Amino acid sequence: MMTTRRVRHRIRAILCVAMSVTPLLARAQSVPSPVTALRFGAMADPSGRTTKNVTILVQADTVLRVGTGTAMIPKGATIVDLRRYTAIPGLVDVHTHMTFVRDKANPLVNGPRSRDSVIAAAAANLRRTLEAGVTTVRDLGASNYADIGIRDAVNSGEMIGPRMFVAGYGLSKVSTPPVAGQPSLAARGRVRDTIDIKEAIQAQVDAGADWIKMYGSTGTYANVTGVQTFTDTEMRVATEAAHRFKRPIAIHSYGDSGGRAALRAGAESVEHPAGFDDATLAEWATRGTMYVPTIDHNRFYAENAALLGYSREQVAGLDSFRLLNLETARRAHKAGVRFAMGSDAVYWMFGENTRELGWFVKAGMTPAQALVTATTNGALLLGQPTKLGRIAPGFFADIVAVEGDPLANIDVVLDRVRWVMKGGVVVVDKR
Ligand SMILES: [Zn+2]
Repeated sequence: MMTTRRVRHRIRAILCVAMSVTPLLARAQSVPSPVTALRFGAMADPSGRTTKNVTILVQADTVLRVGTGTAMIPKGATIVDLRRYTAIPGLVDVHTHMTFVRDKANPLVNGPRSRDSVIAAAAANLRRTLEAGVTTVRDLGASNYADIGIRDAVNSGEMIGPRMFVAGYGLSKVSTPPVAGQPSLAARGRVRDTIDIKEAIQAQVDAGADWIKMYGSTGTYANVTGVQTFTDTEMRVATEAAHRFKRPIAIHSYGDSGGRAALRAGAESVEHPAGFDDATLAEWATRGTMYVPTIDHNRFYAENAALLGYSREQVAGLDSFRLLNLETARRAHKAGVRFAMGSDAVYWMFGENTRELGWFVKAGMTPAQALVTATTNGALLLGQPTKLGRIAPGFFADIVAVEGDPLANIDVVLDRVRWVMKGGVVVVDKR
């Protein structure tokens, strides 16, 4: 226990530090932050335009100016030579599960973990995601609000990772009747009816969630069944409740009926689904709802089936769902449905977040159109169209250097990320 004298001494020491720091802070506020000039060989805009010999001026966490040549570089600016590379905006992955951690060397052992242990283990997922050029994620579902802890630790600088928009517990339907004397599990996302839905959403908002996530059908991991779980009415109640709290909602559905119900309920995004008819896709295009197909995660599960203990039948199911997903994406793109890139990364899939873009090109997009899904469309879905997804004055200085021309070959984005800046800070440098 601390004696009174030691406490007084401690307080005096803290006050001394505070007093000596104050004038420095005051001075720092009056002097503008130094400017960094990033010189790139080219800049690829998701609109499809490439500009050569680009200079990007960065001040603090923001892009100050974008131009060509060196005349615009102010005296005293720090110059970073990236002329071997092409600049693209920091990428947005709108579907991750940072807290779903498993040891690849021993993936089937998954005992209970404390919130702190999950947060510590997720640090590697954050780092690998940055290394893929992803500087922003929407994380769709976590236990014990570990996602909220990580988001806040990244924002305060205690952890290094992409900026995060998080959902807390995803809402899933349980059919078991309430047990007398036992508390409701709605706050932990396990809901039975519309009353529980409202309670569950209120709890996530109170805990600090940015988004609401609802599991509207069966299907996850090696299970690709898409049986709708929440009714059309329940999805509408959830969407209205989320919107009342000014929170957008993402609804998971593998199947077409759940996907259509989510669309009609007014969800901001629909995750995973496949198998829609053309009439639904035409309706979808007029609504502007974001489609997040997550084609690549079923490739990940199939490739890692042995490690994860999946049967041959399960792998066949994953493979055929992936083909259906790709085929649906092809028709959706043709119909004018808006896409955002979501990896649904879990376990050791982090670092492969952008492989989804390869499937989008296979589905008929140009590389530039694929890049839109991971930049401006992601930013739009997150309600940040003037801060994220572009390299332009006033936007966050989230900038990725890739080697090659990403508008000629999307693999450049997948495999050749060499340097990443997030909010004006270099977080990856593999030059
Ligand atoms: Zn997911």
